[in-house]
Formats: sequence, structure tokens, C-alpha cells
Amino acid sequence: MKIFAAAFAFAMLCTFGSTAAQQPQAPPIHAKAARRLVIRNAIVIYGSGKPPYGPVDIVVQDGLIASISGSADGNSAAATSDTVIDATGKYVMPGIVNAHMHWHEERQAGMPQPVQYERNLYLAAGVTTVREVGGDFEKSKRWQAESNAHTIVAPRILVYPFVSKGRTGAPAEIRAWIREIHQKGADGLKIIGMDRDQLEAIMDESHKLGLRTATHIAVEETTAKDYIELGVNSIEHFYGVADAALAGIQAFPSDMNYSNEIHRFGRAGELYAQADPAKLHKVIDRMVEHHVAWDPTFSIYEASRDLVRAQNQPWFRDYLHPSMEEYFKGSTENHGSYFFGWTSTQEARWKQQYRIWMDAVREFATKGGLVTTGDDAGYIYSMYGFGISRELELHEEAGFQPLEVVEHATWNGARLLGMEDRLGKVREGFIADLLVVNGNPLENLKLLNPYGADVMLLNGRPASNYSPIARGDKAQNARGGGIEWTIKDGIPYHVPTLMREVKEMVARARAERPRSTAAGLR
Ligand SMILES: [Zn+2]
Repeated sequence: MKIFAAAFAFAMLCTFGSTAAQQPQAPPIHAKAARRLVIRNAIVIYGSGKPPYGPVDIVVQDGLIASISGSADGNSAAATSDTVIDATGKYVMPGIVNAHMHWHEERQAGMPQPVQYERNLYLAAGVTTVREVGGDFEKSKRWQAESNAHTIVAPRILVYPFVSKGRTGAPAEIRAWIREIHQKGADGLKIIGMDRDQLEAIMDESHKLGLRTATHIAVEETTAKDYIELGVNSIEHFYGVADAALAGIQAFPSDMNYSNEIHRFGRAGELYAQADPAKLHKVIDRMVEHHVAWDPTFSIYEASRDLVRAQNQPWFRDYLHPSMEEYFKGSTENHGSYFFGWTSTQEARWKQQYRIWMDAVREFATKGGLVTTGDDAGYIYSMYGFGISRELELHEEAGFQPLEVVEHATWNGARLLGMEDRLGKVREGFIADLLVVNGNPLENLKLLNPYGADVMLLNGRPASNYSPIARGDKAQNARGGGIEWTIKDGIPYHVPTLMREVKEMVARARAERPRSTAAGLR
């Protein structure tokens, strides 16, 4: 046990130790397909909530998990493998499913942002599968094919295009549009802003075609009640659920204007406090009964309850792309950039909103509901990848154990996508989407953050911060943790290398940035 602990202590620091920034070259196995890959000496977090076990050797063959065995067999397996990753002292868990995201090629208008920046950040945060719920359909389908063929460095992509009022209209037109997009290869549909007759048409047509559906309900004619009844697969965010538990509609002041995002997001923070608790329990019961999943995306609204935290995230310094930096600044043009004179009262109401909302999500899960993780990053001070790491922390804040949080992020994500026969668990025969984590994420979910996390050094060695400290002992903080390898379809991606590339992209973009915007760097 002592020997293991020492090895573990070393492994925790090797990624983000003081020399990480100077690491000049990618390891030779980075981003290279190997016919056989062996991960040696891993402690496994399975994915579906069972406790960790190991150490074991995981043999990956042609992109699938071929075998998982006790370490004694490992020598022979390693001898015949192209590639070996030593996971001594590390934890191996399934890749994360980001169930709610959007690709962007610019944030601030006129300032391009390379999509590779986002792909690297997502992989660095352990995301091996994304569900894009609205984007540029043609491009995303192309990227999906390229990701499947491994000609780009990117997570696996599922494409759920928007069914919007703008693009459609009458129920017959909506149906025709859905048939067409299904033909073109949509994996599912994202529904936003619908009246009841339109929604009936969408749901009926999707069911006929076997298309899955995700909804952002917003504040409108329909609420969760309609979506549950008509059989949607997942409800995103917080909207619609509390709306179905109000005595009538939300109490808005008479000057409310939904197009004004200060109004929209200010008043959204008052929603859950207005819900009738007894009705809310019933809405939750109905969601569970009808197998409607909930993808709360807690992290994307966090700035509303703690703006100073959101504006001062330490990774902004090296990793925030100037296009996004510019976009985040207060602007009536940019979606989600509604912070003009944000008040203590607005934050307090949002904090209350989170308490009730989180309790509702927790109640939903304990009653048997499927909870997943998504980050919706690129808005409201949330960065790609960092957003999903924060999402996991917020699921813990909602009252889930870290092992349950990992289940939300992996196995539940696979179930949401209908890929539970091949994804989301460290299981023989499943797709080899695996994360090799520096340390134990169940001890601290922050270890999954692409920036790494604070770890305590006691007399120069990493130790639990509950360790006894004797007089004369030296306690220090160091940056540790992080994912070392994100493996997708059996191909290992070296996270420090991905992050170094991100840092370089940002430095280049900042150097090329027009002089007029450079002054505002936080
Ligand atoms: Zn979204």
C-alpha cells in the first residue's frame, strides 16, 4: 500500500509540475492510431456507479476494449502491443459525454476563432463525445465524418439541428423540414421556442422517423407538461420545468421585454422561487414516468449568481481566445453578455434559484430520472472544456456523490444518446473512450480540469489535505491533477500537448488582434 501511495504521489504531479510549460514535444504516441494499446496498472472507475477497482491492465485492440485483466497478465500483453501507457497511480474512467454544446468559428463578430481550439479544449477536459444541439448542420456533418475517420483531432460528434420557428412555421412545413433533415443524416433534433400545434407536429414526425429530441423550452406557450406528454427525450437547462409548476404563468413586471437580455436573465433568476413545491414534485414524477432525461447545464448560468468569480477564472490568462474575450464583455448584441450593473439582489435571487433547481434535479435522479452533463460553453464567461469540468463540480454541489457525478457524465450520457450498447463504461467489447487521470477524481473532481488543480504538498510530496501536520512539517500548494491521456476510439491524445497547442493558438490570435480591442484584456 505504501509503495502504491508513493507512485501515486509522483503521478499526480507529473503533468502540471513546474516543467509542464516547457514540455517542447508531443510524446510519439500522441494522436496516432495503434492497432493494440495497453494501459497498465490502472485503477478503474467503471462508469455506472460501481466502486473503483484494480489495478488492472486494459488491452485496446482496433479501437475497442479487448480485455481487462489483473496486472500479472500485463507483461505478455505489453510485449505484443504497439503502444503502452503506464497508469501506475492513475485512475482510468470512461470518456465524458458533453450532451449540450455548440461549435463556433467566431464569437465576437469579425474575429475568427479556430474550431480546433474548441476541439483541443474539449478533448483536454476528457470529452470524447459531444451532442451538438444546434449549429451549422452541413459543417457539423462534415466534422462528424472526419472525426469518425480520425482525420481530425476531435471528439465524436452527434448532430441535433435546431427546429426553429424562423426556419419553419406551419405544422405541414415543419414535418417536411424534419423529413428532409432526417434524410440528410440528423442524429436527432433540438427544439426551441414552440407553440403547441408546432410541437405536436415535430414530436409526431420525430417518433415516426425514430429521431431523438432535446428541448430548450424557454418561456412560452408550451412548458415541460407538453413536452413530457408528447414524449421528448431530454429537457435542457432549467426552463419549462418550474414553469409547469407555477400558479398560472411567471409574475413578470409590466415592462418586461424578453428581447432585452437583462430583463430575460434577471427575471429568469426569479422563476424557481415562484414555483409551487407540491406541483414541482408532480412535474418531476411525470418526467421520471415518461423517461424524459434532464440535462441541467448548471455551469452556463453560474455568472448570474457570482459574476466576479466568472470574470476571473485563472485559465483566462493563457487560454481565453480574444474573440471570446471580446464577446463576453457587456453587449446588447451578444447573446448572454447581459451584465450591465448586475446587482447583489440579482445574484441573491439566482443563488436561491440554484438551490431550488439543484434540489429538483437531485429529487428527479433519486426518483429514477436520467441526469446528464453538458456545458453549453462559449457564452456567459464559460469556456469550452472548462465548462464541463465545472459542470461536474456543480453536480456534486447539487448533492450527488462524485461517483454519481461520473455516472452522469459517462454512462448516463451514453444512455441519452442511445449508445448504451457500446459507450459509457470501461467494459470489454465497448468503444475504447478512456481517460487516464493524474490522481483520483473521486477525491477531487477538480482534478479533471484541463488547467489542473491545487494539490497539497506535505514536505514536498502530494498528500491529502486531511493528513496530520506535525510541528516543523512544511505544507505547500502545487498545481497537479489534470487528465494525462484522453483516448478516443483507442487513439491516445496527450492532454498537456493539446493544452500547449491551445496556448499557442491564443498567443497567435492575441498578437494578430486589432490594436483597438487589445486594451481591454482582463
Ligand atoms: Zn445551447
